[in-house]
Amino acid sequence: MTIQWFPGHMAKARREVTEKLKFVDIVFELVDARLPLSSRNPMLDQIIQQKPRLVILNKADLADPKETQAWQAYFKAQGHEVIAMNAKTNDGVKKLNQSAQQALKEKRARDAARGIKPRAIRAMCIGIPNVGKSTLMNRLVGKKIAQTGNKPGVTKGQQWLRSGKDLELLDTPGILWPKFEDPDIGKKLALTGAIKDDLLHMDDLAIFGLEFFSRFYPERLSDRYKLSAEDLFLPGPDLLMLISEKRGFRDDYQRASEMIIHDIRQGKLGNYTLDRIEELNPDEISHQ
Ligand code: GDP
Repeated sequence: MTIQWFPGHMAKARREVTEKLKFVDIVFELVDARLPLSSRNPMLDQIIQQKPRLVILNKADLADPKETQAWQAYFKAQGHEVIAMNAKTNDGVKKLNQSAQQALKEKRARDAARGIKPRAIRAMCIGIPNVGKSTLMNRLVGKKIAQTGNKPGVTKGQQWLRSGKDLELLDTPGILWPKFEDPDIGKKLALTGAIKDDLLHMDDLAIFGLEFFSRFYPERLSDRYKLSAEDLFLPGPDLLMLISEKRGFRDDYQRASEMIIHDIRQGKLGNYTLDRIEELNPDEISHQ
């Protein structure tokens, strides 16, 4: 489900997250491993301030493993604990628990020095829609939790969901908005299916995808659409026309665009990471 974010929604979502933060020891910040920056909420640092954080690069099964490693190093260099996982399997769960303990090590030591006994860690999941918050929560809790409907505004008393003996999760995730300033971010989110198609023109999106793959994964594009090495030098719109022609869609570029977007979303062009470390601008790198 996609939420249309208006200033009123954002203010409300922010208020709700701020309120819930008081109850937790640590924030699990979920991002899509294919878009580790574009799928972050731009104000999260301001919102959660000094609260310990574990950055979870979720959907790592769909991302380029080499890039995922580089992004893990990036977040570590910013002082965050970070893990990459696939919330649809149990693989990352042990690591998640260890990393949460690690992120709270100093606090635990301070508590111990003051004679405070360790209790289960209290955490909340935060992220933009579709990054896998509910999937992860279900996985951690081991059962299907109530659907939150992906809407900010579901408020009730704080309830805790148990995950093993060392972790408790707030029953509703914090849902925040993605970055909107940069049109490329909107396209990246749409290409992975995180936001609705109808906010963008399909041909723009397909061309964006083609240009991305011809730059970073050219051989996959040529394999899939039977393109020659020279074809890959074509600008995106020409590539779209060529693929449309080759597939027998003639000038039905809408249909060709839908096919290409579908292929990308379904992983027919392989695992990919749309946000690239090498494309960070200097002020983003200076955090490292
Ligand atoms: P939420 O809006 O953040 O709560 O996201 P959901 O948990 O509803 O997940 C959105 C979609 O992503 C669903 O179709 C999930 O099955 C899928 N999903 C969640 N986590 C993963 C993952 O790690 N890998 C893959 N491949 N899909 C995932």
